[in-house]
Amino acid sequence: MKIFIPKMYQKDIFKIDYKKLKYFNYKVLIFDLDNTLGYPKEEICNKKTSEFLNKLQNNFIVIIASNSLKKRVAKFAQNLSCDYFSFSLKPSLKVFRKIKKKYNVNYNEMVIIGDQIMTDMFGGNRVGALTILVDPINEDLKITALNRKLENIINKKNNVVRGDYYEEK
Ligand SMILES: [Mg+2]
Repeated sequence: MKIFIPKMYQKDIFKIDYKKLKYFNYKVLIFDLDNTLGYPKEEICNKKTSEFLNKLQNNFIVIIASNSLKKRVAKFAQNLSCDYFSFSLKPSLKVFRKIKKKYNVNYNEMVIIGDQIMTDMFGGNRVGALTILVDPINEDLKITALNRKLENIINKKNNVVRGDYYEEK
């Protein structure tokens, strides 16, 4: 069940200690989109988040890997200078393999940041990347409802409690 446990857990993307990630030589930050960077109805990335992501690019390769369709992801990312992958099918390893190849980095140099255990954390842990769970910004997409039910069961088994943030597990 360890495969479902995030290595770290923070309230949102702004609370993550990026200096520490830099210190430990992580090179790529891979963000989930829906409910991690923006709420599902937010069509274009808001100013606070876009400025934050653009700033992070001074120190990291910043990538969005979303399971949503290209139409959604491309529009959201239009005011961002970072690369993005749509229809990622997380927890499939495909998107992480693509990123590894394209940017010539190792899995242990990647950080996967997302709000879902079943897709983001499971996928990231499968390749041995650092996984950081965040709380969902807003209400879930319908497609996420089942994942959330499974997540609740798994979190209970693993003693992961939403709201009990931690740095390493
Ligand atoms: Mg999400």
